[in-house]
Amino acid sequence: MIKTAKFGGSSLSDAGQFQKVAAIVRGDPARRFVVVSAPGKRFSGDDKITDLLYRCAALAGRREDFSAPFGQIRDRYLSIERDLGLEQAHMGPALDEIEAALRTGRASRDFVASRGEYLCARLMGAYLGAPMVDAAQLIRFKEDGTLDMERTACYCAPLKDLPLAVIPGFYGTMPDGSIRTFSRGGSDITGAIIARAVGASEYENWTDVDGFMMADPRIVPEARVMHAVSYTELRELSYMGASVLHEESIFPVREARIPIHVRNTNHPEAGGTWIVNEGTLMKEHRHGLVAGISGRKGFTMITLTKENLHKQVGFGYGLLKILDRHDISFESMPCGIDNLTVVLNDADIKGKMDQLYHEIRTELKPDTVEIASSIALIATVGHGMARTLGVAARLFTALSEAGVSSRIIDQSPKEMNLIVGVDQRDFETAVRAIYRAFCQ
Ligand code: ASP
Repeated sequence: MIKTAKFGGSSLSDAGQFQKVAAIVRGDPARRFVVVSAPGKRFSGDDKITDLLYRCAALAGRREDFSAPFGQIRDRYLSIERDLGLEQAHMGPALDEIEAALRTGRASRDFVASRGEYLCARLMGAYLGAPMVDAAQLIRFKEDGTLDMERTACYCAPLKDLPLAVIPGFYGTMPDGSIRTFSRGGSDITGAIIARAVGASEYENWTDVDGFMMADPRIVPEARVMHAVSYTELRELSYMGASVLHEESIFPVREARIPIHVRNTNHPEAGGTWIVNEGTLMKEHRHGLVAGISGRKGFTMITLTKENLHKQVGFGYGLLKILDRHDISFESMPCGIDNLTVVLNDADIKGKMDQLYHEIRTELKPDTVEIASSIALIATVGHGMARTLGVAARLFTALSEAGVSSRIIDQSPKEMNLIVGVDQRDFETAVRAIYRAFCQ
């Protein structure tokens, strides 16, 4: 059994966190591939190493003084090295090299940002007494900047001979040899790629929470941690606002059917959350029918009415053409006999509403156009909801008992996702009511 264990920035923010990580790694010989982020915040208001590196790169690029942020970076690494007695990691000279590269003013932004993970992996390798294998040798991009999984798999093959290795997350190499980073939070992706390349049976993603919550704990303080969630459910929940793993990190392991186990470095006894394929999701993994509830504010509904609209071919197409012209995608588009509603994200229609209204009026000639802003959408997600009688009844009873009226309802034919739109001011009340109805 092989596990790939990725540790996020908060799990590596100081020497004390390094000790916790080492205890976790040593606690299970299956944890052979350790992927690290750059040290994150130690307390609220602290700086993440990656942010400091971006600041240095920007200043150096403009030939301005970067000594203040670089000094902070130096202190962070040197203090971890000193506190753990890791002189063999040679942080001083490694930092000098990065500083010299910055001084030339020609070090690329990606190269500079990648050094956060690089230095962290060197330190962690020294602490665990394991080799650090540079991601630059493993993760390969194609000319167009997308991952070259075939070549990456080839370069990762020798990893399997190592009993333990530490790999920096977040970056890889372009065909011309330059360093390229993934988007922010991209060490999750490295972890997933490594897990797949070494044929891991589990991808552990260690962070600073006990797992994914069934609802936003700022709204539902008693929200439980999900024991398990499928990839599809997770996508639905994160699309609607739940903050989860880096989205791209799901694909490499999903394809290879490797489960992701999200765990808390500061509370390793907690069960965490399993992210698994739909087929592997068992009834006993689930507390009730619902995986979770998530939602977002900031939507606008445009409702068009026209008599016998359902018989008029091309009306919906006309509306979509207008949206397309303005580069606006829609969230949902339920329709009735005489009316059609489209739900749009406020961020997408900012500054465009007057023109949209004008074009809808002149091109589609509806009888009425109604615009309702300040709408929140709430998604209740769970495979168990499909083919279970009374789910919608339960949900709407809960809303009506809480005094919330729903403005719009949308259920996908797969029935794993029931979306309701409510007035923004009712958002929190509605989430709490749905939570109580399904998750308690
Ligand atoms: N250090 C990078 C960031 O802050 C990547 C990561 O932590 O996953 O975005």
